[in-house]
Amino acid sequence: MNRLLPVLTITDIPQPYRDTPIGLLVEYHNLDRPFEEYQNAKLLVGMCMDNRKHLHMPDNFSYIIRTGGANLRYSEFKVSFAIAVGGVKHIALIGHNHCGMVNLISKKEQFVKGLVESSGWLPEQAEEHFMHFAPMFEIGNEVDFILSETKRLRLRYPKIVIAPMLYLVEDNKLYFISENAK
Ligand SMILES: [Zn+2]
Repeated sequence: MNRLLPVLTITDIPQPYRDTPIGLLVEYHNLDRPFEEYQNAKLLVGMCMDNRKHLHMPDNFSYIIRTGGANLRYSEFKVSFAIAVGGVKHIALIGHNHCGMVNLISKKEQFVKGLVESSGWLPEQAEEHFMHFAPMFEIGNEVDFILSETKRLRLRYPKIVIAPMLYLVEDNKLYFISENAK
């Protein structure tokens, strides 16, 4: 079961995304397409806050919203802003492997201890904080989460083209996520 579609040449870009800002992003990032100049944003990228990722793309090309796990559920106003005011019609939703938002509950002890030691919170405060927010940011599995979040966003913004993608931290490349594989 391999749901990741690599892009090694332009023809690997799935048809609905070819010659769109989503395809261009992958051409810039994976295929070293020479940078064009942009005056306005063409794309909105939703990606994880994780430090291991950097996108290779021209200045002004894209809005970027970074959140835990590329979860845009709590950033909807910013998505709407990029569409309504920024004029963006395409969204690349990019998860990544080894995401810290997977199995968050297992990190509870580390989270509470770290917050107490590093920021001076009381243990009860830190624990309550974790228990309140962890269920909102838990993503379960990176690929499945991106697929479900893509579906949700397509329903919310029916005229916007949205591509589910994954960033592999081992090779720093972007992959499309197949929506047909079982
Ligand atoms: Zn992450």
